[in-house]
Amino acid sequence: MRFGIKLTPDSLLLAIGERDEILGSYFPIRVVHPCFVACSRFHSIHRNAFGATDILFKIFGTGPTLLRLLVSVSPCLLVSLSVASTLLLVSAILPGSTLGVLGSGQLGRMFAIAARQMGYRVHTFSPDTDTPTGQVADKEFAGSYDDLGAVRDFARGVSVVTFEFENVPAATAQAAAECAPVRPSGAILHVTQHRIREKTFLLQHGFPVTPFRAVRSLEDLRDAAAELGLPAVLKTASFGYDGKGQATVRSLQEAESVWNCGPAERIYEAFVDFDREVSVVAARGIDGSFAHWGVIQNTHENHILSLSVSPADVPPDVEREAIAIARGILEQLEVVGALCVEFFLTKSGKLLVNELAPRPHNSGHLTIDAHVTSQFEQQLRAVCGLPLGSTHRHRPAAMANLLGDLWSAGEPNWPAALALPDLKLHLYGKSEPRPGRKMGHLTALAETAHEARRNVLSARESMIRKS
Ligand code: AMP
Repeated sequence: MRFGIKLTPDSLLLAIGERDEILGSYFPIRVVHPCFVACSRFHSIHRNAFGATDILFKIFGTGPTLLRLLVSVSPCLLVSLSVASTLLLVSAILPGSTLGVLGSGQLGRMFAIAARQMGYRVHTFSPDTDTPTGQVADKEFAGSYDDLGAVRDFARGVSVVTFEFENVPAATAQAAAECAPVRPSGAILHVTQHRIREKTFLLQHGFPVTPFRAVRSLEDLRDAAAELGLPAVLKTASFGYDGKGQATVRSLQEAESVWNCGPAERIYEAFVDFDREVSVVAARGIDGSFAHWGVIQNTHENHILSLSVSPADVPPDVEREAIAIARGILEQLEVVGALCVEFFLTKSGKLLVNELAPRPHNSGHLTIDAHVTSQFEQQLRAVCGLPLGSTHRHRPAAMANLLGDLWSAGEPNWPAALALPDLKLHLYGKSEPRPGRKMGHLTALAETAHEARRNVLSARESMIRKS
C-alpha cells in the first residue's frame, strides 16, 4: 500500500495507491484533525512511475493549519478505510507516543535521550541486548533483521520507525513500512547503503563526486586503474564504514592483491589529495522545511573520525556551496529526517561529495552542546512531523571521539579531563573497549573554533593513563 501527499498553493492532494489495484471506493475522505475538519473530493487517477495506481483526492480546508497538515497514515488505517470510507489523518506524532529505532548503537542512544527528554517512549530493535540504545530505551527488542515477522511486530508497537544504522536489509525496512511509517524511507537506505548506487545517484543528479568506477572483475580493476590512475582507494560497495573494507592502493600489483582477497563488487575511487574534510549535517521535515548546522571540519585517523570543529575554517563561498549541495541532496532524495553529506575540499577549493549518511552523524555530535536544537532532536522533530527547531550555535565547538584505544593502559582519567572548563563528556555505555571502537566523545565550547579544538584535544590527552 502506498500513499503520498502533495501540497499545491491552494490545496492538499492525497494519493493512495496499490500495485495494480484501483481503490475507487475509498472516497470521500473526511480529514479529522484537532484543529479543523476538511472534506475531500475525488481528483484524478493515474499510474505513477513505479507502475502503481495513484488516486488523488483534493482536500478542502482553510487557513494556515491546512498547509501545515502533517500526515501519518498507517496501512492499518487505510485498511479500515475500505470499510468505513473514512480516513483519520493524524497531524503529528506527539509526545507520549512511542518511537521505534532500528539499530541500537550510540546514535540511537542519543536519539532516545532526546526523545525521552521530550516525553516520548522509545523502542529499539537490533540483534543485540544491553545495547547503547537499549539502555536508555523503554523496550529493547532483540532479533535478527532478517526475521521479518519480528520486525513487523516491532513496527506495530510504534507510531513511526526510524533508524540509526543504515545497513538494515531493504526487506526489513519494507516489512516495517507495512505496519508503520518509516522515515527516512527504505528507498533512501537502498541508495545510500551501497557506494556504487550512491555515487551513481549523485553523479546522475549533477552533484560533484570523487571520480570512481564500479569494479566487478579483475579486468574492470585494470581498466579503472588505467582511467583514474594510482594511487586510489578500493572500497567494498556495501557494509563499509569507519574505514572497514577499504584500502589505499599505490600500484596495480597492490590493487590486484587487495582485489583478490575481498568481495566481488567494489568501488575504485581516485585518491583525493584533499586540503581538508568537511561535512554538512542537515535535516528535512515532512513539509519540506530544511535546517543545517553549517559546515563542520573533520579530521580522520586511520579512516575513523577523530576530531570535528564547528564552524569549519572555509571561505564563505565554499560554505554556501556545501550547504546548497546538502540541501539539493536532501530534496532530491526526499529525506524526512537527518542526513550528513561528507565532503573533500580539494587544494583548488573544489568540493567533492565523498559519502552520505542518512541519519545523524558523528560529526554532528557537537550539536548537542553547541546548538539550540541538536541533530538528534531534529531527527525526532522531522520523523514525528513536527516543526524543525532553531539550529542557532551558542558558541564555537570541537568534538573529540573517545576510541577504545584510550583504555589500553586502564580506565581513562575522567576527572583530569572534566577539570577543564566548558567541556562535556558523553559515554555510550559500552562495556568492552576494543581498539577503534567508539566509546564516547568529548565536546568543548569556546569563544573561537581554534580554542575549542585546542581544549578538546588537551582534555582527551589529559585522560590517557601513562603506563
Ligand atoms: P569513507 O568510509 O568513504 O568515509 O572513508 C573514510 C576516510 O578515508 C575518509 O574520511 C578519508 O579520510 C579517507 N578516504 C576515503 N576515500 C578517499 C579518497 N578517495 N581519497 C582520499 N582519502 C579517502
